[in-house]
Amino acid sequence: ITCRRLVEQYLVRIDEHQHLNVFTEVYTDEARQQADAVDQKLTNGSAGRLAGMVIGIKDVLNYAGHSVRAGSKILDGFTAQFTATAVQRLIDEDAIIIGRQNCDEFAMGSSNENSAFGPVRNAVDPERVPGGSSGGSAVAVQAGLCLASIGSDTGGSVRQPAAFCGVVGLKPTYGRISRWGLIAYASSFDCIGPIANTVEDAALLLEVMAGPDDFDSTVSSRPVASYSQTSLPDRPLRIAYLRDGVESEGVDASVREATQRTIDDLRAMGHIVEPVELSLLSSLLPTYYILTTAEASSNLSRFDGVRYGHRSTSVTDLLSLYKKSRTEGFGPEVRRRILLGTFALSASYYDAYYTKAQQVRRLIREETERVFAQYDFLLSPTTPTPAFRLGEKTDDPLQMYLADIFTVQANVVGYPAISIPNSSDGVSEAQVALPIGVQIMAPPFAEGALVALARTLE
Ligand code: GLN
Repeated sequence: ITCRRLVEQYLVRIDEHQHLNVFTEVYTDEARQQADAVDQKLTNGSAGRLAGMVIGIKDVLNYAGHSVRAGSKILDGFTAQFTATAVQRLIDEDAIIIGRQNCDEFAMGSSNENSAFGPVRNAVDPERVPGGSSGGSAVAVQAGLCLASIGSDTGGSVRQPAAFCGVVGLKPTYGRISRWGLIAYASSFDCIGPIANTVEDAALLLEVMAGPDDFDSTVSSRPVASYSQTSLPDRPLRIAYLRDGVESEGVDASVREATQRTIDDLRAMGHIVEPVELSLLSSLLPTYYILTTAEASSNLSRFDGVRYGHRSTSVTDLLSLYKKSRTEGFGPEVRRRILLGTFALSASYYDAYYTKAQQVRRLIREETERVFAQYDFLLSPTTPTPAFRLGEKTDDPLQMYLADIFTVQANVVGYPAISIPNSSDGVSEAQVALPIGVQIMAPPFAEGALVALARTLE
């Protein structure tokens, strides 16, 4: 099969699945041209490592000459001026970029219902959410609309939708992949990560995207390992699991059972699997939401109606231009977070909220380090429930935030984590089997071992 044929097949499938609202733009002609060029290279033996991989990118990644909207109205009419390092590295290895994928506005959300382009639907049950914020990217892989996707994960946005859709999502160590060209949400949390059908595909994409980059001062200069080739140490592994993930009443019974089965499987393989408790579990979400909204309020101040995208037409002076453009351009969740973050950073509350949250972040890091001083990995469900129904949590932001209870820790501490399909035991009223994910976290830069362990569970 040629790359061109492959692209044509994906284009047909994309067309047949319009109702899922996955792509905000399909690069039809361009993908065809890229495919023809890669086919040429394949004939003369000069093709790159990703030749034949057809990839979609989340609408928060800049791709020169193409629109980028971050799921928002405020970027109406904006065209990317440069290409994100991660995307450029894929193209340099002959990946074919097929289109731009729907997501929550500025990657803020857990259900993909916060997009100015309408919600994405879960292919397993279109009345259910795909998760978020990289919902379009997860459904694209789930429904076979491309081979893999590139998303971003600030508090779970790659892993949580991957779990809801029954695919693999990998969040690398903070700083492993350059953030250059990724529209910022919370800069000290944001990570680019792949969503794929298999752990091996995700590992290969990570390998290509990772590594030093002059354009991101927080990126690590550590050499990039061959993540798909790393083998596990020749001894039983020490794996901790979060007791709450299999015992807490707040976790759906189907999720608890699936997680317990994975624990049993790992024990059957000869590993040592033991429960741990995180005393700071209940501080994770508050810490995450204080710090990320603070960073977001600062990052999003650049969207002022002057420099990018949407500008209100009914303005009288500069201040009303800022106010009206931002009020018209930002959706309710983004506005809520800018308000929260601005409040947390305000002079009279800074110490009570922002400074305090920074201190708790440090305590969480220390507690996590203590766990990893004794264990090689930390396992938990990816999410407390399988995919919920569209509209089910939109009136209750706090309920929505709980969907990330197990995923945010990795971002708060900067560790790598992967979500892989665990089972499809989550049964909905319609008796459709809903996917459930299991998450494994590893110490910083141990992506190779993480991938190796995940592959034994596939
Ligand atoms: N759902 C979380 C939030 O709304 C995580 C989002 C993300 O990882 N981008 O902040």
